[in-house]
Amino acid sequence: MGIPYSSLSKSNSTQGANGKRLEKNIRRYLFSWEDEFKWINYDAVKEKAFCSSCVKATNMKLPLPTESSEKKSALGFVINGFNNWKKAHEKFRRHEASHFHRAANEMILTSTSDSTVSSKLSTQHLQDMKDARKALDHIFSSWIFLGCQGLAIRGKTKESSNLFQLLELRSMDVPVLKKWMNRPEKYKWISPDVTNEIVLDISLVIQRELSNTIKKRDFFGFMMDNSSDITGKEQVSISFRTVDDEFQINEDFCGFYETATTKSKDLFLIKKDVLLRSNLRLENCRGQCYDGAAAMSSEIAGLQKLVLQQESRALYVHCRAHNLNLVIQDEIKNIPDIENIM
Ligand SMILES: [Zn+2]
Repeated sequence: MGIPYSSLSKSNSTQGANGKRLEKNIRRYLFSWEDEFKWINYDAVKEKAFCSSCVKATNMKLPLPTESSEKKSALGFVINGFNNWKKAHEKFRRHEASHFHRAANEMILTSTSDSTVSSKLSTQHLQDMKDARKALDHIFSSWIFLGCQGLAIRGKTKESSNLFQLLELRSMDVPVLKKWMNRPEKYKWISPDVTNEIVLDISLVIQRELSNTIKKRDFFGFMMDNSSDITGKEQVSISFRTVDDEFQINEDFCGFYETATTKSKDLFLIKKDVLLRSNLRLENCRGQCYDGAAAMSSEIAGLQKLVLQQESRALYVHCRAHNLNLVIQDEIKNIPDIENIM
């Protein structure tokens, strides 16, 4: 307490023959009580004794017993303070044995050890999260690397896929990635389904950036061509042609779109859908470029006609690459020397 015992109190107690304290006519607080009741906290200003355990448990808002008799007697040591020195020893013993006081002690102990365990758990949990994020960063950059290099993500088997092999290689330098690769299959998040979903998400981000760039350049040309893939599905490739602030011409491929038919009406619907998704307006289209197929180039019912009906400034240009191809084909057919060279 910091205050010398002798200066504050004169002991009015004496030790009996059997060691039991005799307390008669005690009118002051005895600091010797603290030797027996460690929980006593004496307030020298108020000249009252409090129970440090019960006060602490109450301040911590722990769920202490609510029976009225228990609570009432305990409140003397929690709120009001105790100063009935005449019966002090007996009251102290009774409080120490009370359900309220014992519950307070137990709960303080439990809550402290709980918080240690939970803080340990949360520290570990935080570290696991950091490791998982690092590993995912490496998985994402591997997806992006394969995409940028035009390399297939898949392989003949999962283990022989480019993605798996690349991650295995990188995990030799990155311990958290090695730990991640040792996880059960379900928790690696590199299955074909997950990969497809993430690649789709990445493509949406790229497309969004692309459409923002095109939008800033105001006007654009629209290029479209279709071809069937090895499974026989008809696919439409779409690109935009724009001019930047440096007057440089840019051509940006923005994806393949599956189409059920190659009719001009369906192709027009795809074109409108792509513009809508890219947040671009047909009114800003100044050119359209396709091959010479009737569905594309016909002036009567081709795609170019359908576009021109809505935006007359979107001039149609027969694709120069397709033109060159046709010229070479005709040459080969008609000039034997060129056929021999080719
Ligand atoms: Zn107590």
